[in-house]
Amino acid sequence: MSTASEAIVPDVSRLRPAGGKRSSKRERILGVFLTHEGHLSADDLVDLIHREDARISRATVYRTLQWMVDAGIARKVDFGEGRFRFEHSYRHPRHFHLICKTCNRSSEFLSSDIEALIEEVAGARSFSARQSVLQIYGTCEACRAGRSPQPEPTASELVFARDALRIAIATERSGLEFYSRAARVTKHARGRRVFQKLADEERGHLSTLEERYQRLLQQDPQLESRPTFLFFKGAANGLFAQAAEEISSGIDDRQALKIGIRCERSSHRFFKRYGERFEDSEGKQIFLEFADEERGHLDLLLREYILLTKGAAKAPRKRVRPVSRRAKA
Ligand SMILES: [Zn+2]
Ligand SMILES: [Zn+2]
Repeated sequence: MSTASEAIVPDVSRLRPAGGKRSSKRERILGVFLTHEGHLSADDLVDLIHREDARISRATVYRTLQWMVDAGIARKVDFGEGRFRFEHSYRHPRHFHLICKTCNRSSEFLSSDIEALIEEVAGARSFSARQSVLQIYGTCEACRAGRSPQPEPTASELVFARDALRIAIATERSGLEFYSRAARVTKHARGRRVFQKLADEERGHLSTLEERYQRLLQQDPQLESRPTFLFFKGAANGLFAQAAEEISSGIDDRQALKIGIRCERSSHRFFKRYGERFEDSEGKQIFLEFADEERGHLDLLLREYILLTKGAAKAPRKRVRPVSRRAKA
């Protein structure tokens, strides 16, 4: 467990059940819980509380934990130990766990690819999935190396924001590469201008995101070395990496636009879907702002595509263009 002095404390008065009387005990228990990140058992919490005030009974702690679960402050997790553990749910998205059977510590992660797979399987069975739990049991790095257990690495809001930014930055970089290449290979001046404009936009946004990343690092000197929380296949290369490969000299304006539309659409969907799922946090903001940006690019490309196809339908064909190698794509 690590102590997080910067833990964000929700507005307790708002969360207090209607008619519930003011309880200083409850607030103190809540305070202790929120300053300890990680996965506490009820008994762990009782021990922590008793270090501060031995008069608070076990039953009060148990009751308060249940109240916190009901109020959306705490989440119950079952690591198969025959007892529940509790983690923060406020500003802490639901995630998966790696659990060490030697030291009982767990580490958290999220994976959009695993979630997409779960949705695919559930969809294939017409199953309405409400919640999925993924637990990976094994031995952690410290236990394997015979080192003493380290504090439980929990995914703080900062780590989440860091990972969201990393994915957004990788996407911008690959987008910049894609549009720069598209501008180079496009034959028509108009198409070239569109791709050039998008490349310029990506360049501008990229530097904004990189500045934001640097500001984030200033809040926690160790932030870069903390374990990855948000896994996303292809994140390191960016969503447009494959498309940038597809852009070759044989491609025409329409095909280039089509590839751009496909990428912007999937990028918009990815960031929006993820952003909407998260609790209010900087990571959520990053995702939603980025989703909007991609939506703007998508609209621009769609307009161009419509103009281009309309123009092609009206204009008499002067010559037959050689069939591109990639025409089937
Ligand atoms: Zn371990
Ligand atoms: Zn957890």
